[in-house]
Amino acid sequence: MHKCKWILKKNIDGKYILKCIKLAKKRQKGIPIQYILKNWEFYGVPIKLTKGVLIPRQDTEKLVDVALKIIKKNDIILELGTGSGCISAAIAKNIKNVKIFAVEKYFKAYSCAKRNLKNFKNTVSLIKGDILNEKFASKFENINLIISNPPYLTKKDIENMQLELKFEPKQALYGGVDGLDYYRKIAKIYKNSLKKGSHIVFEISHSGRFAVEDILKYNGFSNIQTYKDLTCKDRVVVGKI
Ligand code: GLN
Repeated sequence: MHKCKWILKKNIDGKYILKCIKLAKKRQKGIPIQYILKNWEFYGVPIKLTKGVLIPRQDTEKLVDVALKIIKKNDIILELGTGSGCISAAIAKNIKNVKIFAVEKYFKAYSCAKRNLKNFKNTVSLIKGDILNEKFASKFENINLIISNPPYLTKKDIENMQLELKFEPKQALYGGVDGLDYYRKIAKIYKNSLKKGSHIVFEISHSGRFAVEDILKYNGFSNIQTYKDLTCKDRVVVGKI
């Protein structure tokens, strides 16, 4: 407490100092700052957060950048695994006259996305569903763009992950032994949901580029392009069908 004396001298209410100390202790335990503040910003959009929901990353802003360059007026967009809803919210904020379907399976993330997408109700429809379910996938037709930041950490990544990551939901991070389960499944079961000439835009692990490119080629996608994030790491793969 003695270190806070200077603050006390400036007549700041003691209860705020205690609150600060309580929050600092949480951070000391490794709890990510985003869960402590319960708020974060993504692509200029304020995002509410709770534990159990993947924290929006700056890397993912590249995914939005790439998508916004492809999306055209009146496009129908499908976001698979929306989590906090940050990607759909960022697209909706930046481009008018599109329709977005944002899908989420897990209750905590779904509830969180509902709050974050409240201001974009006219553009984004939030759907509770299992993105890996083939019957569910077959309901989508004539989509102009599929976008997804799927779980892509490998078994090894999970075993060696830093403390902060352990507070995030494993189901939003773990992509199977080689981190590619979601790419294989999504490319296979949603390729028929896309209108001819449309795009799929994936966030990838910086080491996943060639594997994801191959998965897309195998499933009939062409014009495959990979983009780097701000740290010059491969981060986004796009394919056209
Ligand atoms: N980019 C996240 C990380 O490296 C992982 C998110 C994901 O699996 N989609 O921590």
